Order: sequence, then structure tokens, then C-alpha cells
Amino acid sequence: MKEENRPGGCLCGAVRFVCDGRPIKVNLCHCQMCRKASGAPVVAWAAYERARVRFLSEPTWRQSSAKAERGFCPSCGSAIAWHALGDRAQIDLAVGAFDQPDDLKPAEHLWADSRIKWLKIEDSTPKYHEGRDSGAIDT
Ligand SMILES: [Zn+2]
Ligand SMILES: [Zn+2]
Repeated sequence: MKEENRPGGCLCGAVRFVCDGRPIKVNLCHCQMCRKASGAPVVAWAAYERARVRFLSEPTWRQSSAKAERGFCPSCGSAIAWHALGDRAQIDLAVGAFDQPDDLKPAEHLWADSRIKWLKIEDSTPKYHEGRDSGAIDT
């Protein structure tokens, strides 16, 4: 995959962004907050340096916990972004919001202990009990 601008946006098109090149990391998050915010059983996130992401039109930000804010489209409600409060250097973008997400393959599972039980994980990527500092599950 050559380095290039990667566009994405929400369902209605009111929120659009362009990323410069590849993300730092891509994960699948099984936490309940991501489930609630998206309505999906699991959410794939692409982590970018904030300086490499340009919003052509900004999402609306809402504080979703003591630690983080989530960005969504104020018009159609699509979940777009996540960032930790106190870390303005990095932002997570929903992989599903990218126009071409095929090569944004997740390399790890976060909050695997919160996974919906009918969702089978059959890949061999690392699975963390909770966040990355919680330790990986031996499989
Ligand atoms: Zn929208
Ligand atoms: Zn999550």
C-alpha cells in the first residue's frame, strides 16, 4: 500500500476527513461503551497522530467517560472518532467510516473480556483483557 491521503466520512457526508498515510495501529474494541456508541457488536479503530488527520468539516464532540470524548456527525449520528482527554496528539477514527477500509486490518483486540459471547474470535492477533496495559490473554 503506497502512502497516500485516505478519505472518509459519515453516512450522510456532512462530516468528512482526510488522513495522511497509514495509521499507527488498528484495533478491534469490544468494550461496552464502543458498542453503545456505535450500535455494533464490535468497533474497529484506526489510531492516527492528530496532526495527520484533517477534518474538512468537524464532528460534534461529546465527553463519553471520565477519560475520553467521542466525535459523531451532528446530522446523521454516525460514530466517527474517539480521543483520550489529555492526549491531543492522537485520535482514533472508526475504520468503518473510511471510504476504502479494506487494508485497515485490525492487529489486536482490546477489551476482549467484554466481547459479546456469540461473537467468535478466530484470528491469532493479541487479545487484551481490557486496554493494552491490562495484559494479553493466553490462547
Ligand atoms: Zn452525517
Ligand atoms: Zn471501546
